[in-house]
Amino acid sequence: MKIKKILIANRGEIAVRILKTCRKLNIPGVVVFHAADADSPAVKMADETVEIFGDTPVGAYLNIDAIVNACQLSGADAVHPGFGFLAENGAFARRLAEENIKFIGPTPDVIDLMGNKISARSFAIEHDIPIVPSATQEGTTAEFIQSAIQVGFPLLLKAAAGGGGKGMTIVREASELESAIQLTSQEAMRAFGDGALYAEKYVEQPRHIEVQVLADEHGNVVHLGERECSIQRRFQKVIEEAPSPALTPELRESICNTAVSIAEKAGYHNAGTVEFILAQDDSFYFLEMNTRLQVEHPVTEMVTDIDLVAEQINVANGQKLPFSQSDIEFKGHAIECRIYAEDPENDFAPTTGPILVYIEPTNPNGENGPAVPTVRVDSGFQAGMRVTSAFDPMLAKLIVYSHNRTDAIRNTEMALASFVLLGLKTNMDWLQSVMQETDFQAGNFHTGYIADKEDELGLKPLTDAQKRLVASVVALQERPLTSPEYLPKPIHKAMGGWQN
Ligand code: ADP
Repeated sequence: MKIKKILIANRGEIAVRILKTCRKLNIPGVVVFHAADADSPAVKMADETVEIFGDTPVGAYLNIDAIVNACQLSGADAVHPGFGFLAENGAFARRLAEENIKFIGPTPDVIDLMGNKISARSFAIEHDIPIVPSATQEGTTAEFIQSAIQVGFPLLLKAAAGGGGKGMTIVREASELESAIQLTSQEAMRAFGDGALYAEKYVEQPRHIEVQVLADEHGNVVHLGERECSIQRRFQKVIEEAPSPALTPELRESICNTAVSIAEKAGYHNAGTVEFILAQDDSFYFLEMNTRLQVEHPVTEMVTDIDLVAEQINVANGQKLPFSQSDIEFKGHAIECRIYAEDPENDFAPTTGPILVYIEPTNPNGENGPAVPTVRVDSGFQAGMRVTSAFDPMLAKLIVYSHNRTDAIRNTEMALASFVLLGLKTNMDWLQSVMQETDFQAGNFHTGYIADKEDELGLKPLTDAQKRLVASVVALQERPLTSPEYLPKPIHKAMGGWQN
């Protein structure tokens, strides 16, 4: 039975992104929403909506019963989980199967296997997949400390159930180990409800390279190339690109083939991402497999011209992949910048506030310009909405494609310069300064880049021309900014990053 109606168990930009493919495939899309998102573009764009409830706004999107009920109410026969929330929850996928609703993703068993970092590592060891030397928390704390010391310092303590860069601590000396274990375990317990840890060798100045894989239920597995995701803060990605400027063709082939073999050995179906740490000496190690669509999937779509959500739906429909490895062509270069409501000058602390003016950049060559370069904005916000601390601070993603990396960087910088978001502090100016930085331009960086370049990446003062542009943008806005809540003070506050 082919999927007839898809319920999107998510919100924000990814809900909009999935809806776009549903439209293209002519499949009605149902969006569930918490009241906090009632005015969001995803809700407006959906063919049908169902309000869901929870203790908190996030709690609503984690409420399995509410989502199953929404499927029954709307008659949706499949669920696309997006990323975050229930996307990597084996119990959710199992429950949907019980209810005869398709989960657009891999099987619950594979989600469980890869969802726990310790079980994923055991799987890797069993199958001779290279992993970073590590010690798992078995026996007493004293025994764990002993085996961790044997691995050698520096060490990275990690939560078995971790994700999103949370629950990780670098430990440089044996004397710090015991208290670090205690604190990290408590943090993991709070964040993931599971305090289990392991310790692995901290690879100095590595790159984060990941490979997009796609597998059908008929034994076909392909890769769609790698993504370079080394520009991170707090172990979280901010800028991603495809292809990686660091890989030789031989290293690329080796990493991509390793990813395919991991997917094959795990009996993986649907889209997934195999993450690796690439050391300075070009050795690479399996980090984890994300059993879902990634935030940064658009860069892969740009360089392969493959719609990953459409392929996910095809696979969930039991169809064969429509291409083999040799059919996949890689062209040009794509860069994604995550636009966060955050303050780079204040340790990237999340910010909140109203979105007063929101103007997305367009293709630098104009609407009717050539197909390359191309600007894509995946966004779940619009002017008039308020950014609160209820959800993750990512507002939108700017993805720019061009013939080569140099042009892609230049066009990203131009697109960022014409991207207007007034009302709260974002990281857009800071992203622009990364695009102008020489080591980034040379492809010469590792995961410590942001910390190392703190001084160089400070905000530059606006030129007079930029100040005039800001003033005219505000003046030309058709939407009257008359809400007393917004005027007169916040509008000036809102322009803070632009003014100085
Ligand atoms: P999460 O699931 O929380 O995203 P990951 O295991 O994927 O955690 O790691 C996130 C990031 O942490 C990586 O991209 C990398 O920058 C860093 N990292 C993880 N493991 C190591 C390691 N062994 N050595 C150095 N950095 C690491």
